[in-house]
Amino acid sequence: MTELQPQVVVPFRGLRLAPSATTPRDERPGLAGLTTDELAGWFAERGHPAFRARQVANAVWGHRHASLDEVTTLPVPLKEELGAAFRFDTVEDSELRLADGGLTEKALHRLSDGLLVESVLMHYPARGGARERHTLCISSQAGCAVGCPFCATGELGYERDLETAEIVDQVRHAARRLARDGKRLTNVVFMGMGEPLLNLDRVLESIAALNDADRFGLGARHITVSTSGVVPGIRRLTALGPQFTLAVSLHAARNALRDVLVPLNRRWPVEQVVEAAREHAETTGRRVTYEVTMIDGINDTDEDADALAELLRGEHAHVNLIPMNAVAHTPWTATPLPRVEQFAARLRSAGVATTIRINRGMEIGAACGQLAAEHAGQPAPIVVQRRRERLVDESARALRGERSDEPVPVGVGDD
Ligand code: SAH
Ligand code: SF4
Repeated sequence: MTELQPQVVVPFRGLRLAPSATTPRDERPGLAGLTTDELAGWFAERGHPAFRARQVANAVWGHRHASLDEVTTLPVPLKEELGAAFRFDTVEDSELRLADGGLTEKALHRLSDGLLVESVLMHYPARGGARERHTLCISSQAGCAVGCPFCATGELGYERDLETAEIVDQVRHAARRLARDGKRLTNVVFMGMGEPLLNLDRVLESIAALNDADRFGLGARHITVSTSGVVPGIRRLTALGPQFTLAVSLHAARNALRDVLVPLNRRWPVEQVVEAAREHAETTGRRVTYEVTMIDGINDTDEDADALAELLRGEHAHVNLIPMNAVAHTPWTATPLPRVEQFAARLRSAGVATTIRINRGMEIGAACGQLAAEHAGQPAPIVVQRRRERLVDESARALRGERSDEPVPVGVGDD
């Protein structure tokens, strides 16, 4: 683990990005992915006293130890037995970059097969009556199959789903760093790499671990799951009933444009997404957040604002406008702030609650997947040129109202 002092920014020392896995995966499950019963069962089967399981759980969830070696309460033979069956930490190495004067910490984590995933810890000092917050944005997949063209993770393509412990261990890393300063993590958002609802079983297990008072112990209301609109996944989340916050990455209210910006819209069009989100709001009583990444000249016109207002009229919803973070290999740039403000005012005057979020960590590439993309190296110039031309062409057709005839991305359309 490379720890940096606050305010210091240094370049990564060069974790090698695996565009695909470089080494075989470590098959031993991570301890953080086990339920309390599974852990207790393992000890009971081997005839160990129950208090040993509790000691291990305390070590995993106490946020003081980085490895089993550091846990002095356990006998060495037991640590060896445990270590042969499980991993204390599924993140093999991490590097940190700081930005925003130390308020944003971007971590690049290397997994056992060499893949890299990112998490971002954002500190919000106490302001007015609001308490200080420490929010961690985590990854659910290595890469992403959805392929939104303004997203660096989308450009990387899909590698694999993360295991439950690989998701939770990003949180344990941040909690350990915070604990050293006597602080606690207050919020977790699934807004890093990957589409959480396309790895739903593992994401649900990790949420259960984070939410469980005997494990991480974070209230459901402090956990946000962001989706690009996997309708069956939203319905499954709703059926489970807990009060997590659902964030929907909308980006466009008009189908032709959304087909291009969020390619799984070709499978689940925007009306279906909003309907599923409405059911979630009605069932849980929680307001849905709609995210709109603002791209200059593409989805930021008055017509777009009006279509959005029409779509969300009467919804228990809240819109978050986020100027696009510059991403290599796209022909697009962020909507200028005055235009974002006009767009917000138009939505508000139509009765839609709207806020503007300026992205944290832009100087270190905090938009999901950007660091990993940086490590992936440059594609050939001709590939970049073709991609840009294709995006200009597709978005121009979408802006004329023509629906995309491109197929649904592979691995996305199955119910
Ligand atoms: N796959 C999920 C969650 C991860 S992406 C989803 O799409 O919701 C998290 C958020 O980052 C999404 O709202 C996504 O649209 C946004 N995002 C991706 N690339 C971005 C960029 N270049 N600038 C601003 N926001 C971006
Ligand atoms: Fe995947 Fe979300 Fe990026 Fe789209 S924005 S490619 S769904 S991670």
